[in-house]
Amino acid sequence: MTDTHAHLYDCPHHRLDEIITEAIDAGVDIIINTAVSLATARTVLDQCDRFPDNLRAATGISPFDTANLAGGWDSELAALLSNQHQRKKIAAIGEIGLDGTNPAYPSIDTQMPVFIRQLEIAVTSNLPAVIHSRGTEKRAAEICRDTGVKKAVFHCFTGGAEALEYIVNSGYYISISGIITYKNSHLRELIKSVPIDRLLIETDTPYLSPVPRRGKQNRPSFLPHTAVEIARLLDISEPELTAALKNNTAAAFPDIYY
Ligand SMILES: [Zn+2]
Repeated sequence: MTDTHAHLYDCPHHRLDEIITEAIDAGVDIIINTAVSLATARTVLDQCDRFPDNLRAATGISPFDTANLAGGWDSELAALLSNQHQRKKIAAIGEIGLDGTNPAYPSIDTQMPVFIRQLEIAVTSNLPAVIHSRGTEKRAAEICRDTGVKKAVFHCFTGGAEALEYIVNSGYYISISGIITYKNSHLRELIKSVPIDRLLIETDTPYLSPVPRRGKQNRPSFLPHTAVEIARLLDISEPELTAALKNNTAAAFPDIYY
């Protein structure tokens, strides 16, 4: 199984071994280690060097990190992609996006040009875009389409039915986190509208631990709790779900297996 979205950049050196061993033991053999800034992108790429069989990178600047970017940030991101050693570890541009709900984030006007520029980089480097979007899901998907993005993954999707339909009709993917295991989550019903060939799952480590680990710091080895719950909600067998997820991961992130 692949954890399509985790943040391990804050994980201390000595803990990373343990976290990856635990993940493998839980059946999670590939983790897309996701950056939120240029600095974390470098850390993530270094971590991928230590675990070439299990870690892949998503490199990008998250909407939260779009304020006060130094000039030339986009050439620095592009430089990572043109470095052959780095490029072969990079599975996606992410996480990037728009967040319209959290007052702690920079304004949408600040986020927007950084989002669009990174989508252009995803298009020219032929990589999928991993999108963080809160309250702006449909708008973000429209911008992806307008920018010519072929593959996009709406990570930790928490939007509504209308946005979901638009994303799916655009050919993009929906990634579901441990939130679906929370009793009051609207995703428990909405999941039935996600075509099985567009579904991905993630932990979003270190956040959002699934039930029964809710409240603990999340880690990739907790991913199976989310898979089991989705299989139950969709009334399909776990092997059936796992097989679909494997196909979808390969389709959404073609560079993940090399
Ligand atoms: Zn994230």
